Amino acid sequence: GFSGIHSAGFSEFLLKEELINAIHECGFEHPSEVQQEALPQAMNGCDIICQAKSGMGKTAVFVLAVLHQLETPVEPVSVLVLAHVRELAFQIKREFDRFSKRLDGVRTEVFYGGVPLSEQVAALKNPPAIIVGTPGRILALARKGTLKLDKIRYFIMDECDKMLEKLDMRSDVQHIFRMTPHEKQVMMFSATMNKEIRNVFRKFAQNQVEIFIDDETKLTLHGLQQYYVRLSENEKNRRLIDLLDALQFNQVVIFVKSVSRAIELNKILVESSFPSTAIHAGLNQEERINRFKAFKDFNKRVMVATDVFGRGIDIERVNIVVNYDMPQREEKTDARENNASNTYLHRVGRAGRFGTKGLAISFISSDEDTQVLNEIQERFEIAINELPATINISSY
Ligand code: ADP
Ligand code: MG
Repeated sequence: GFSGIHSAGFSEFLLKEELINAIHECGFEHPSEVQQEALPQAMNGCDIICQAKSGMGKTAVFVLAVLHQLETPVEPVSVLVLAHVRELAFQIKREFDRFSKRLDGVRTEVFYGGVPLSEQVAALKNPPAIIVGTPGRILALARKGTLKLDKIRYFIMDECDKMLEKLDMRSDVQHIFRMTPHEKQVMMFSATMNKEIRNVFRKFAQNQVEIFIDDETKLTLHGLQQYYVRLSENEKNRRLIDLLDALQFNQVVIFVKSVSRAIELNKILVESSFPSTAIHAGLNQEERINRFKAFKDFNKRVMVATDVFGRGIDIERVNIVVNYDMPQREEKTDARENNASNTYLHRVGRAGRFGTKGLAISFISSDEDTQVLNEIQERFEIAINELPATINISSY
């Protein structure tokens, strides 16, 4: 079996019966390693700092821990979950919905930018128990006084390294944090966590339990095959189309480095009759979520994306990820290490979720790409080989 999955069932956690039933309905049979380690502590109300590789079910840790602890009648706005991008916030709301189906009076709403404030102000007239949102919009609503944070008892940050590494977002998070009561449970989750950011996390927590499931070098993904293709820039489209014709994919995500490239490549794929869509920062909010839904619901099978789509997003049926453009190294003043290799990990983490098989193919067209590829191989202690002429389709 898959080494990250424990054989004991969920029943040993002594969760509320409604939750055990919902877990079974979701098809979860065995808790993953991170769930095994973190859920008991989280259910007990401990502050948690938790790192575990992508796809291992971190969402269920906080969703179940919160739903288990909520007492009826449920106080409005007692839970706040912050996520760095809208799609992730939307997805977390869906997880709360799925697990709280059988719980009375537990409602979750999601708030992010790009939607008119007035709509959200109206929605908050009858505030739900659980609020999920992106920091900018949550802060705006809280400052207006529309969203009252003085009853918050659970404060969760998902993909928290991403949220705290951008300084403006970090400042929003800090402001929001200060508006919540001192007494609360704080939980922070991420797939990667370097030493420096870990110390930032510690400022939010009290007597926290720290759970690190993987050491940095072991963050490669189980069951994921990784290859590169060396080619020149102008061969990329032809090669991609050939690959999409040859490979058997359920769903594929193709990463590019800019909005304009996402638009252009998607157009080419649609013209070549692939059921393709694109997601990037150039779209309005409604359109972005609509496209995300269409992909999640399997109405589209190819997604061309910029890195807005890279983190934390879970699509169960994605089995192939293509780095049409390799992650770029960013020259940053606050010199975060391993930037391109972090991005790589989060991108390829879209395939091979929860221990299923997957295939990642990276296009290498410049010296810089080669350097990034080498860094990735060193950091994760893996060999990424050239894509062979044929691959065994039972292996991804
Ligand atoms: P992470 O946040 O660690 O990247 P997610 O919470 O997004 O991972 O979970 C990845 C996928 O695994 C989701 O589709 C989720 O429904 C599924 N999953 C999580 N826990 C389990 C489990 N115990 N058994 C089966 N599937 C699970
Ligand atoms: Mg996650």
